[in-house]
Amino acid sequence: MRPLDIAIAGAGPGGLATALYLHRAGHRVRMYERFTEAQPVGSGLILQPTGLAVLHDLGLHGKIAELGQPLDRLVGHDARTGRVVLDVRYAALRNGGRGLGVRRAALFDVLHDAVRTEGIPIETGFAVSGRDAGWLLSGGRREGPFDLIVDALGAGSPLRAEAQVPGDGRALGFGALWATTPWVDGFGPRALMQRYRRAKVMIGVLPIGRRQPGGEALAAFFWSLRIAEYEAVRAAGFEALAERIRTYWPALPDGALVADYAGIRPKLHGPTEPMPDFRIDGPEVHGVPELVNLLGIESPGLTSSLAIAEMVRDKLAG
Ligand SMILES: Cc1cc2nc3c(=O)[nH]c(=O)nc-3n(C[C@H](O)[C@H](O)[C@H](O)COP(=O)(O)OP(=O)(O)OC[C@H]3O[C@@H](n4cnc5c(N)ncnc54)[C@H](O)[C@@H]3O)c2cc1C
Repeated sequence: MRPLDIAIAGAGPGGLATALYLHRAGHRVRMYERFTEAQPVGSGLILQPTGLAVLHDLGLHGKIAELGQPLDRLVGHDARTGRVVLDVRYAALRNGGRGLGVRRAALFDVLHDAVRTEGIPIETGFAVSGRDAGWLLSGGRREGPFDLIVDALGAGSPLRAEAQVPGDGRALGFGALWATTPWVDGFGPRALMQRYRRAKVMIGVLPIGRRQPGGEALAAFFWSLRIAEYEAVRAAGFEALAERIRTYWPALPDGALVADYAGIRPKLHGPTEPMPDFRIDGPEVHGVPELVNLLGIESPGLTSSLAIAEMVRDKLAG
């Protein structure tokens, strides 16, 4: 296949991994990101065995492994009755696969460093506003022309509207507050631990490794809440939230909670609708040449980057 000029819009994990694969396949890749300095958003996540296989395939597994925390279990209890609601053990996987709790920043740094090392240019401070044929637009600025534009802008992508079947990008009624804290004893050092109250409350503690090899152990703390409640929670203040959390996790040690920043997790479907599958729409779906939309991918996107990159490459090859 002849080398193509490819723009990758968005330097999140999906965009960075896709850039590495397409660059290594011999294409001329440029990345575009709105942040003035490329950076991760959020606290921690679990890299599942498929995502780790991708990092292995990219030659980056060793780097992430020395920063992450291997997990044996994902376990969740009903906060009132103590009933086990979720108990997933990686030992059940015959291939020895494990999840790896990592800081988002660690995943980002490992991928971003590889992109920089391989000389793939990243244009920062470029807020994508749309597309005009093979040109990528940012307000009055135009970059291109490209043979292909990969939309890796995440769930709120402005390029979604370009698709012939753009999907329904309504946000779910739930979001999450999360924070990165030093590890405190009393939680599972090799487990994601969650507590629930029906579908209304979900809180969790995830070990996410360390900032540098051998450094202090860290945890990500998650508290789900309705987006509509967010302002009220802010107004009531941090101590009120900490007291609420303690009603679900009475053994929470004093000083284990610290105020940090929060984020909202967007979804493609509404609260009463079933979760739709994610979509990879090429010209055969939307009729627009040189555009591949990755829609609603979320966690599977992170854990299936290899397969997604191959699919994008195949769509490219026609
Ligand atoms: C609270 C929470 C917990 C999660 N936990 C997990 C987990 O445990 N395991 C897991 O696998 N996944 C998890 N996920 C999902 C995971 O975060 C996503 O699957 C992943 O981030 C998707 O990567 P992406 O590169 O497609 O998009 P994103 O990470 O959203 O990256 C998009 C990039 O595009 C940039 N961008 C956006 N709009 C523009 C624009 N207009 N112009 C220029 N740049 C733009 C953004 O700045 C960003 O850098 C979680 C998500 C949330 C919110």
